[in-house]
Amino acid sequence: MTTVSFVSATSVDDALAAIAAGARPVAGGTDLVVGARQGKAPLPERIVAIDRIGDLAGISELDGALRLGALATHAEIAAHPLVRGRFTALADASAIVGSHATRAHGTLGGNLMNASPAMEAGGPLMCFDATVLLQSSRGSRRLAVSDLCSGPGTTVAHEDELLVAVDVPAPGDGTGSAYVRLQHRRQMEIAVVGATAAVTLAEGAVSSARVAITALAPTVRRVPAAEDALVGTDGGADAAAAAAAAAAAASAPISDVRASDRYRRAMAEVITRRAIAAAVARARGGDAPIPASDGGAP
Ligand SMILES: Cc1cc2nc3c(=O)[nH]c(=O)nc-3n(C[C@H](O)[C@H](O)[C@H](O)COP(=O)(O)OP(=O)(O)OC[C@H]3O[C@@H](n4cnc5c(N)ncnc54)[C@H](O)[C@@H]3O)c2cc1C
Repeated sequence: MTTVSFVSATSVDDALAAIAAGARPVAGGTDLVVGARQGKAPLPERIVAIDRIGDLAGISELDGALRLGALATHAEIAAHPLVRGRFTALADASAIVGSHATRAHGTLGGNLMNASPAMEAGGPLMCFDATVLLQSSRGSRRLAVSDLCSGPGTTVAHEDELLVAVDVPAPGDGTGSAYVRLQHRRQMEIAVVGATAAVTLAEGAVSSARVAITALAPTVRRVPAAEDALVGTDGGADAAAAAAAAAAAASAPISDVRASDRYRRAMAEVITRRAIAAAVARARGGDAPIPASDGGAP
C-alpha cells in the first residue's frame, strides 16, 4: 500500500513551500479525493491541504468588480448578492454544481484547476473576462480564465503554482447573462452540454456579446462567431438562432456514457439559444429565476 504524506497549511507561504517540495494542493477534495476513491487516479504521494488558509477564502467587491478567493465555495458564490445581481451566469452555474454537499465543499479554485471540459464555472468566468492570479515561491502572474486550460484535466499552470484568486471586472451597464446546462437529473450531475451568454444592450441593440460552450470541446471555450452573430442585432430570436448555429458548428463533442457526439451537437444549438434568450431577457430587466437551467431560460 502506498503511503500518502499529508500536511495542512495555514498560510499561503507554507502551502507554496510544500508545493515547491512536490506536494499537490487539495481544497475541498471533491475532485481529487472522490476521484481517487472511485479509482480514476491514485492519490498523489504528497498532499498539502489548503482549506484552512484564511487569505484564500472569501468574496470581496471593489467598485462593482469581484474578487473571488480560490477557496470560495459554489454555495457561497451562488448566494452572494452581487453575483446574483450582476454576474448572474456565475450564480446560475454555481447553484447547480453537484449537490448541496458538493457546493458546500467544492471550491472555485478546485473547479478551475481540475480543468474538466464540463466544469460549471469556466464559461461564465470567460464571458466576464475574468482572470486568475497564480502564485508560486518564484512570484505571481495573472492569466485570462480563457487561457488557463490546455486540455481535459490539464492547465498551463506550473506544478508549483497555486491559484490564489479570481478577479472579475464589473460588467457594463445594460449587461445580462445566463448559464444553461442540459442535465439528465437535477442533483449529482454534470453538464451533458452547457452554454453561457452575456450580452450588453445599448438603445435596444446588442453592443457587446460573449458566448461560451461547455462539455462540447476538450476545454470550455468562447465562440467568437456566435458573438459576432449577436452584435448589432436586437438580440431577438433570429439573432439567437444564428449565434446558436455558430456555437454548434464550433463544437467538437465526444460520445460517452452521458450522450453521443451527434446528440451533443444538436443540443448545443438548443442550449445556446436558451442561454442567449435568458441573457437578453435579463439585460432588458426581466427577472429570470436562478438557476436558469431550472426553467428560467425561455
Ligand atoms: C458528486 C459530485 C458532483 C459534482 N458535480 C459537479 C458539477 O455539477 N459541476 C462541476 O463543475 N463539478 C462538479 N463536481 C466536481 C467538483 O465538485 C468541482 O470541480 C469542485 O469545484 C472541485 O473543487 P475542490 O475544492 O473540491 O477541488 P479538489 O478536489 O480539492 O482539487 C481539484 C484539483 O484542483 C487542484 N487544486 C485545488 N485547489 C487549487 C488551488 N487553489 N490552486 C491550484 N490547484 C488547486 C487540486 O490539486 C486538484 O488537482 C462534482 C463532484 C462530485 C463528487
